[in-house]
Amino acid sequence: MRDAARNAPVGDASYGEDPTVTALEAEAASLLGFDAAMFCPSGTMANQIAAFTHTDPGQEVVVEEHSHIYGHELAGLARHSALQVRPIDGSPRGVLTPEAITAAIRSRGSNQVETGLVTFENTHNRYGGTAIKPRAIEEAAHAAHEADLPVHLDGARLANAAVAHGITLDQMTTHVDSVMLSLSKGLGAPIGSVLAGSDRFIEQARRARKFFGGGWRQAGIIAAPARIALETIDRLEIDHANAQRLAAGLESLPGIEVNRPETNIVMLDTQGIDRTAHQFLERCGAHGIKGSHFGQYRVRFVTHVDIDSTDITEAIDGLKTICTDLRTTD
Ligand SMILES: *Cc1c(COP(=O)(O)O)cnc(C)c1O
Repeated sequence: MRDAARNAPVGDASYGEDPTVTALEAEAASLLGFDAAMFCPSGTMANQIAAFTHTDPGQEVVVEEHSHIYGHELAGLARHSALQVRPIDGSPRGVLTPEAITAAIRSRGSNQVETGLVTFENTHNRYGGTAIKPRAIEEAAHAAHEADLPVHLDGARLANAAVAHGITLDQMTTHVDSVMLSLSKGLGAPIGSVLAGSDRFIEQARRARKFFGGGWRQAGIIAAPARIALETIDRLEIDHANAQRLAAGLESLPGIEVNRPETNIVMLDTQGIDRTAHQFLERCGAHGIKGSHFGQYRVRFVTHVDIDSTDITEAIDGLKTICTDLRTTD
């Protein structure tokens, strides 16, 4: 990726003259099954641009209660696009049912706020990287379309979902109107996400990106490694296998409750060892194991391109030691 960055042909992307950015956007559009795609600095910006483009100020957006666009984008929907949010519980896997969507959509009338957009997330991060089936998205999207509402898919980790189901990315997007895919997470690019949709949607989104301050100039050096990320999607199988192995190793530790990972995210509960996520992660840090804190007793570990099978073995050994130490100090 570093060599590709160094050798990338560049131009002024704000005039559509950066050949590397243009190539990346064409490849992303084709892989995601849309007319067009737009390269963005971050997934958050791409999600926010999508919402801005799909809606009018003063509308309501239906979101899943634990979604990134609701909980992790600093109220951007309200601040950038003057939208109010309607969070709906999508437990146990993070996908809204068609019934829940239909019930959340407000009937049109002069004295009700107007619903303007429905969003989904796949894989769903806070539910532990659940790979939602395209069929579930199709049914939920159908409920939104019945009411003439557009659907945006936050597919930061959509490639993980596609690999988990053994299908291509475009098979994951057939029933949504726009999708965001992160290139800088599991896919390993240094920077960037893509937003894909119809020609008309992306044309409007390009104006929004400029307004958000995300217009590029000589971005080819960033787009070149991002193109490599798009070519290496199949590699995610390795991350999924590593997550499985890590979870299996953790399962044998008394007091630790762990999910059965569907993709590259391992979630564990530390209540059984009487330690908060914070306290547990402090110990992990001392053993060179890095995770994040996802609630008082929840810890998230993620496998990715820089973690190999030896790292997993070392992590399991380290976690075993931590749990043994905790028991003997209790
Ligand atoms: C990380 C993430 C984003 C945002 O991507 P950034 O590049 O960090 O802004 C959006 N949605 C989900 C589900 C994510 O995990």
